[in-house]
This record gives sequence, C-alpha cells and structure tokens, in this order.
Amino acid sequence: MKGRNAASGLPNILKKLGAMTAIRDTYMVEQSLLRTLGPLLGVLETSFYRVEDNGDVIRALYHSRKVVEKQGAKRVVDNIEEVSNEQEIPDILRNLFESVRLLRKCCSRRSENNLLICYPIYGKNELVGYFVFQRDREVTPVEDAIVQGVLEVFTNYFDLLDTSQRDQLTGLLNRYSLESNLDRLWSILAARQNDSKGEQDKRIVKPECYWICVLDIDHFKKINDEFGHVIGDEVLIIITRLLESSFRQSDLLYRYGGEEFVAIIAANDLDAATQALERARHKIEKFEFPQVGHITISGGFSCADLSVLPQEIFNRADSSLYAAKKAGRNRICFYDNLVAEGVLKEVAAGSIDLF
Ligand code: GH3
Ligand code: MG
Ligand code: MG
Repeated sequence: MKGRNAASGLPNILKKLGAMTAIRDTYMVEQSLLRTLGPLLGVLETSFYRVEDNGDVIRALYHSRKVVEKQGAKRVVDNIEEVSNEQEIPDILRNLFESVRLLRKCCSRRSENNLLICYPIYGKNELVGYFVFQRDREVTPVEDAIVQGVLEVFTNYFDLLDTSQRDQLTGLLNRYSLESNLDRLWSILAARQNDSKGEQDKRIVKPECYWICVLDIDHFKKINDEFGHVIGDEVLIIITRLLESSFRQSDLLYRYGGEEFVAIIAANDLDAATQALERARHKIEKFEFPQVGHITISGGFSCADLSVLPQEIFNRADSSLYAAKKAGRNRICFYDNLVAEGVLKEVAAGSIDLF
C-alpha cells in the first residue's frame, strides 16, 4: 500500500466519499475522512484536530491501520481513537498549526526522518480544524489536488449535517442530535471500561464521569403571555448564551424542546458537576433580562452509568427536574439525593445486569 500513486486510488475514493455521505452523523464523518485519506496518501496514521474559534484544539482523532496475518490471510485492521482537549500537543505540531493558520495553506515540518504535513480545514470560511499525517516525502501536486478536493467535499457535507443537527433559533444541538449522541456516549464509556481492563493508552485523558442534566425555564408561558413570543424568543437566546458561558466548550448543550435544555457535562465528581450547574443557575438568576427582568431555571441531573440504559438515565434527570419544580423551582436536584431522601423511587426498568 505504501508509496502507491495517489491518482490510481481515484475510483476507490469515489466509493469512500459515497460511504462518507451515507453516514448521518458529524463525528462519523470526521472518522470517515481519516479512513479515506490515509490509504490514498499511502500512510498508516492520520489525525484530525478540531479547533474552536479561538484556535484551541477541542478534540483530536487518531486513525491507524495495520496489516495483520491470521491463518495465512492478510487483513487490514484500522483503529480510531478520540482524545479530549486535555491532551498535550507537542510544540512542533503547535508551531505547524500556527503556520497553517496564518498562511491558510498546507505546510510541513521535518521531524526526525519524516515530514509532518498539515492541511487546514475550513467551515463557512473559518478555520475549524487540521488534517495531519507523517510521510517521508512532500505531497505531489496531484496528491495535493485530491486532498484539497476531499477536504472540500468533507467541509460541505459536514456543514450540511451540522445544520441539520442544530436548532435554528439558538444554534444549539437539537433533540435529534441528543438521541444519537447519547448512544455514542455510552459506547465511549464502554470503551473506557475495556481500556481500564487492558493496556492503557497514556495519551488518553478521560474525565471520571459524564453528567446528564435537563434544564427548564420557570414559568416561561407567563413570559410569552405577558410580553409576546418575540421577547420570549429573545429570552431563549440569552439563556442559551448564559448556559454556554457556564459550561466548558467541550461540554454538550442541546435545546431539547421549547424552553427545555439538556447539558451533558464532563466532571470528575459530584461536587464539580454540581458547581458547574449551580454556576449556570446563578448566572441566569442574576441576569437582568431586557423588559422582562429576572428569570429562573430549574434542573435535574444524573450520572451517566454504563450499566443503565441511556434513556433511563435521561428519565432519571427528567424526574429530578420535575421534583425541582414541585419543590418550588429555581433549584437543581441530583437524582441519587432524591432517591436517598425518599422523594423519588429508583426504577428498575431499563437497567442492565452486567454480570
Ligand atoms: P414551569 O415553570 O412549570 O416550567 O412552567 P412553564 O410556563 O415554563 O411551562 P409550560 O410547559 O407550561 O410552558 C412552556 C411554554 O414555552 C409554552 C410555550 O408557549 C413556550 N414555548 C415553547 N417553545 C417556544 C419558542 O420557541 N418560543 C417561544 N417564545 N415560546 C416557546
Ligand atoms: Mg418551563
Ligand atoms: Mg417545559
């Protein structure tokens, strides 16, 4: 495979692009990009770094392939690893990112016997990520044209998918996206559990736990009735921005329904999760909304536990929200506490017996 001429891979790449557009999930498309470009460039390892507006890397994907021989038959096995933003990025790569960002084109750096090559990835004319690989030689003009073409298709398709996963009013991820992300979160947790049983990859820094929280604006109907829907919509947008500024960029925030939001936050322990959610509740409580004045929110949350179905964890957070409303609103309740206090009964339905 190594050293194969890139142009000879053209019919193959069209097939791969077809597969890429069949996947209806932005994360899967990122993985598919690496699976497409690695073989095309004749390299065994490729990576994709997604960056925020301020240039910080928020997520990295590593793709590696190796040929394994089993009972005389050779097979290519590929592996994708996702690494969160806590990972250290080597200086050489950081410098390379900086050059690519400033020059807005592919750049390379010599690293030992290899060249580290990096392409910028744009979305709506803004830099959204980097595609990186190592090879012993520079890309040829033909390879360059193909890589640029693939990245362009990727960008267009990614934007399209991203739009379909977002709510138009607030720009937040929508309910459809939450449903697919919950399953994905459970597979990450399962992989993490397997990791801790087997060999651990030092590069992967993972939070201890993910927390799922359902948040709902208190007495929102009254705001609409008193001030009209346009003001109601403005409130929704302001609350979205306040929530976003309370959580980390790597946390996920969804508009689940009219005035309901779901946050999936990564935090090491209950204290850290409670602090983040209370920070959000406080910020909203203190904010002076134009015309409307003060508004509060209520919430309920639960820890993502692999032995329980995602839908059940969501239900736990939702019934905790209901308990917060009943207890007088403007508060955030934790499911386990409500069970311990006897306010809620633990539901056995939907739980999985792991052993
Ligand atoms: P509670 O404190 O119990 O949550 O009371 P509430 O009034 O917030 O709850 P309820 O579910 O009765 O009302 C939700 C309201 O949200 C009803 C609807 O008018 C409003 N709503 C839903 N979607 C939108 C939207 O996109 N824009 C606006 N302006 N209002 C919306
Ligand atoms: Mg409400
Ligand atoms: Mg509601």
